[in-house]
Amino acid sequence: MTGTPASYDSVARYDTLIHRRQTRSVRVGDIWIGSDHPVAVQSMINEDTLDIEGATAGIRRLHEVGCEIVRLTVPSLAHANAVKEIRQRLEDTYQPVPLVADVHHNGMKIALEVAQHVDKVRINPGLFVFDKPDPNRTEFSPEEVSAIGERIAETFEPLVQLLKQEDKALRIGVNHGSLAERMLFSYGDTPLGMVESAMEFIRICDRLDFHNIVVSMKASRAPVMMAAYRMMADRMDAEGFPYPLHLGVTEAGDGDYGRIKSTAGIAPLLAEGLGDTIRVSLTEAPEKEIPVCYSILQSLGLRKTMVEYVACPSCGRTLFNLEEVLHQVRNATAHLTGLDIAVMGCIVNGPGEMADADYGYVGKTPGTISLYRGRDEIRRVPEAEGVAALIALIKEDGRWVDP
Ligand code: SF4
Repeated sequence: MTGTPASYDSVARYDTLIHRRQTRSVRVGDIWIGSDHPVAVQSMINEDTLDIEGATAGIRRLHEVGCEIVRLTVPSLAHANAVKEIRQRLEDTYQPVPLVADVHHNGMKIALEVAQHVDKVRINPGLFVFDKPDPNRTEFSPEEVSAIGERIAETFEPLVQLLKQEDKALRIGVNHGSLAERMLFSYGDTPLGMVESAMEFIRICDRLDFHNIVVSMKASRAPVMMAAYRMMADRMDAEGFPYPLHLGVTEAGDGDYGRIKSTAGIAPLLAEGLGDTIRVSLTEAPEKEIPVCYSILQSLGLRKTMVEYVACPSCGRTLFNLEEVLHQVRNATAHLTGLDIAVMGCIVNGPGEMADADYGYVGKTPGTISLYRGRDEIRRVPEAEGVAALIALIKEDGRWVDP
């Protein structure tokens, strides 16, 4: 861009609000996915679905830590039947949990069985009608491409009809790493190939007037998945398919890097308004994924599931042990979901940088801190009484609840 825009307000990139892409609402059990609803958090158990007790416990564990939709893998008919029992057990011993079945290679029969026991079925367009790639092939003739297209439609239609009849949902879950061979010949290993793969299935659904669809475009490299999601959203909007998006980076790994990699892919899309449900895939216990999802959503202001702490990084001006005080403040107030609390090292920059927090704890002079409500300094107290005085202030305001 050159020069200064006539009006800064007209530049979308300068907007401080996230405007979500308008989508349909798709119901998965008692959770809705779409732009009229909070971005939903989901994950997947890693127990074998045949281990009914283990899988039921795994689903419950995830649900108890805030996972709103739980996926499980269904590679055979026996697994599909096990899902029926798992669902029943959840209802008998816990509560219904929105469940998604992952169906893979040539999974038609399995999908038809399991669709009766779950709220959503996920299919991978690259594997749903799967022919082993032929290493000697050099091209696909138009006749071959259309014959495969017909075979896909024929195989896929009964599932679509069943989901429509049962008012259940479908995820068209494209994976960069498993595009169908003819897509690779036509479009290469590209975001466009991913988009075309999804569009083929979307069109079949559309012909059958089925629209409970969520779409994902996962890849293990963040720039690839970001490009694919953006292209998919543009294509769907251009063709009149306002389906919600499920965001995720596959095989992100574990530890800090896995979390950062997932965030690097998911957060920019959410900030652009794309994405209605997310999964952070970590090579760790799935329960560990849920706090990461919520941190991403909270840091973008898309959901508020915990107290927002604003704290300065501390510097030579800091008047108290900031790390320790932040820890104490957090321990005392972490359950007050909805509040923004700032802990700032000094009054030079602290009050100005508290970002409109509800309450502020700011170093005043050595040994003294100031408590703020919004932008107003309310009282000064000795540092040793700071945390107790903050709690007292929140109580006076009627905003305290017991942990
Ligand atoms: S608020 Fe004060 S103590 Fe904290 S980083 Fe800024 S100048 Fe340093």
